[in-house]
Amino acid sequence: MALFDDVLKELQSRVTVRGPDSNGDYVTFCPFHQDKKHPNLFIHPQKGFHCFACDAKGSIKTLATKLGIPTDHQTTKSNRLSPSEAIQKLLNESSPPRNAETLRH
Ligand SMILES: [Zn+2]
Repeated sequence: MALFDDVLKELQSRVTVRGPDSNGDYVTFCPFHQDKKHPNLFIHPQKGFHCFACDAKGSIKTLATKLGIPTDHQTTKSNRLSPSEAIQKLLNESSPPRNAETLRH
């Protein structure tokens, strides 16, 4: 599952990711609440993610959106980031856009 790999790589570039355990779950820090001490986020390629601290849960696609990973491959095909734009995007990640949350309301 390519999107899951993208999510895993993105998380590994930021924080420690443990796993997979015997259930296929990866465990890491939750991007939906502030806690840098307790890895409460469980991620599974098929089941999606679930945070046991703030109860955030959803699909891998939801998690990818939260992390700023493009999930719509139809638009990214015609609107691909150049390498320099990709680097710029990484540099800007300290202030992630809030699109994922505002779209739901
Ligand atoms: Zn959480």
